[in-house]
Amino acid sequence: MSAPDLLSPSALEQARDTALAAFAAAGSLEELAAARTTCLGDRSPVAQARRSIGSLPGTEKADAGKRVNVVLQAVTAAFEARRGELEQERDARVLVEETVDVTVLPTRPVGARHPLTTIAERVADVFVAMGWEVAEGPELEHEWFNFDALNFGGDHPARELQDTLFVEPADSGLVLRTHTSPVQVRSLLDRELPVHVVCPGRVYRADALDATHSPVFAQVEGLCVDEGITMAHLRGTLDHLATAMFGPGLRTRLRPNYFPFTEPSGEVDLQCFSCRGASAEPGAPACRVCNSEGWIEWGGCGMVHPAVLRACGVDPERYTGFAFGMGLDRTLMFRHGITDIRDFYEGDQRFTLALGTEA
Ligand SMILES: [Zn+2]
Repeated sequence: MSAPDLLSPSALEQARDTALAAFAAAGSLEELAAARTTCLGDRSPVAQARRSIGSLPGTEKADAGKRVNVVLQAVTAAFEARRGELEQERDARVLVEETVDVTVLPTRPVGARHPLTTIAERVADVFVAMGWEVAEGPELEHEWFNFDALNFGGDHPARELQDTLFVEPADSGLVLRTHTSPVQVRSLLDRELPVHVVCPGRVYRADALDATHSPVFAQVEGLCVDEGITMAHLRGTLDHLATAMFGPGLRTRLRPNYFPFTEPSGEVDLQCFSCRGASAEPGAPACRVCNSEGWIEWGGCGMVHPAVLRACGVDPERYTGFAFGMGLDRTLMFRHGITDIRDFYEGDQRFTLALGTEA
C-alpha cells in the first residue's frame, strides 16, 4: 500500500477496529501478547502508517500525524485495559488454585541424617566398642600439625598450591587440613600413652568439583600407639573394621606404598563385597563394583614413622604404633553404587533420605 492509502482515515479506522477486536478476543495474557505484536508491533498497519508519514508532502504531514496518533492512543489504551482485566483474572485464579489448607497433615517425610554423618558414627561405634576414643580437631589447621609433625619435608609436593588450600595471608601458616592426620598428632600430644583414637572428619584439597573429586570430603583415621604394637595388630584391626562395615568373611590385602608419616606404608584393598573376588577368575561374569578386579582400593595405612612419634614427644625406642585412614565418601560410594561424589554435597533431600537411615 502506498503512503496515502495506509494513512487514509478508513485504513486507520480499520486497523484500529481490528486491533480492538483482537485484544477483546484474547483469552489469556499469552494470547494478548501475541495480539499486541500483530496490532502494535513493528510490522503492524499502524506502525507502517506512522513510518510512511515521512514520505508525504510537507503540508500533509501534520494532519496525517494527528490521525495516526489518535489511532495509536486508542489501540494502546485498549491493550492496557485488556491487560489489566486479564491480570486480575489470573490473580484471582492463582489465589484459588494455590490455596493452602493449613489443616491438612503433612505427608512429606521430615528428613534424615546425612549419610556421611551416619557412616562416621558407625565407624566410630566399631572402635568405641573396642575401647578406643573418638577424637576431633580443627578443620582450619596449622601447617605444623598438618605437615611438619607428620614428617612432610619442607619441599614435599603436597605443600604446593595445587594440592593444598592455604589461608591468607600467605605467612599465616594456616591451611584447611588436607587429611585428618593432624588430629592424631594432637591426640599424641594431649593424651597419656597408650593412645587409641579414631578421628572422623572433613578434609579439604585444591581439587575442582567433578564426579569423582570434591574440594571437601570426609575421612576417618585411626591411631594406636602402645608398647609392642606390630603390623599384625594393624591387619587385625582393618579386618575387624571390614567385617563390621561390609559383613563377615571379606578379606583385606595390603600393598606397599609410601607415606611420609608411616614406615612401612601400605594401601588397604578390600575384597569386593559384591562378587567376593570371583569376577577376577578367568571366564567369570563381570563385576561393576570392582571392575572385575576382585579388590577395591579402600585406604592407606602403616606403622607410625619414628620421626612422627618423636615430634609428638613419644620415645620410638619404647613405643610403636599403627595408623590407617580411608575416605568415608568413597566407602559409601562403593557400598551403595553411588557414581557421583557431588551427590553428598548438593543437599538433595531425596539422596539423604535414600541413604541416611541405612548407611
Ligand atoms: Zn567385584
